[in-house]
Amino acid sequence: MTAIGFIGLGNMGAPMAANLVKAGNQVTGYDLVPAAVAALAANGGRPAASAVEAIAAVDIVITMLPAGPQVREVYLGNAGILGRARKDALLIDCSTIDVDTARGVAAAAHESGFEMVDAPVSGGTAGAAAATLTFMVGGEASAFVRARPILEAMGRTIVHTGPAGNGQAVKICNNMLLAISMIGVCEAFTLAQKLGLAPQILFDVVSKSTGQCWALTGYCPVPGPVPSSPANRDYSAGFTAAMMLKDLRLAQQAAGAVAAPTPMGAAAAALYQMLVDDGAGGFDFSAIYRFIAKSEPKIRNE
Ligand code: NAD
Repeated sequence: MTAIGFIGLGNMGAPMAANLVKAGNQVTGYDLVPAAVAALAANGGRPAASAVEAIAAVDIVITMLPAGPQVREVYLGNAGILGRARKDALLIDCSTIDVDTARGVAAAAHESGFEMVDAPVSGGTAGAAAATLTFMVGGEASAFVRARPILEAMGRTIVHTGPAGNGQAVKICNNMLLAISMIGVCEAFTLAQKLGLAPQILFDVVSKSTGQCWALTGYCPVPGPVPSSPANRDYSAGFTAAMMLKDLRLAQQAAGAVAAPTPMGAAAAALYQMLVDDGAGGFDFSAIYRFIAKSEPKIRNE
């Protein structure tokens, strides 16, 4: 049994922490939202009243926070992990954040005597619940070896991507591609319906054709074809549009820094900015379908 301190029990952190409990670990959790801490306790975890309490005397600290500023605060702040955790504790940040912050926090952790990895995830809340996440891990090989057994309790594919920050680099490339493919799927459904096709017909053909992708078959943005997708529950997140916009901005920042041409990524960022400005930032990112389709389509059966 490993003693784990888990900070950030939101849409992803809650099911990840629950799977660590199921795997027989002692998990102490903290979140700014008291209900999230209570939910962990209901799943067999231990509630903590502060981040400091959650990480006191644990073997491993895991964070699953919204973005870079929260990660900096929780690791480097006055009551932060680097000042309060046991020196032999392994630090694992699973949040999706900018590469520079990931590398900066890892360097500060190293200077303070800790081993740390960035280990952002792919697979969404369904993957988090089913413990089938993909982890892309950046950090030293020795830290990866220590992290692997714990990550295996939450995921199915665990890949060492290189030194600190490389996990984040892979993650922003993945999410840029995901946003672009989601928008493409929404455009295809919109066009199909305006041409008189039922969504299920398009789904049945494209899911077995060259346009097939996860945004279609795993997370269909149109209600019906994939019952588990957020489209069937009024686009409640899931992965919010605001989070997707954050990741697209990170990708654009990184692309600018290394002069990588990403015109489709830029277009995706602009569209998600419009969606969020329209007040839909709290909905699932697949709600971009409603934004693109706008009007109710007319289905022709003849
Ligand atoms: P979320 O907003 O549901 O959860 C984040 C949690 O962190 C919240 O409960 C919040 O209260 C807590 N928090 C914020 N600051 C804190 C602090 N200082 N101390 C303690 N708790 C704090 O977000 P999420 O959807 O769980 O995403 C978390 C991270 O995972 C993000 O970086 C996101 O980009 C990434 N991610 C999300 C998904 C997804 O499908 N939701 C998939 C892959 C990656």
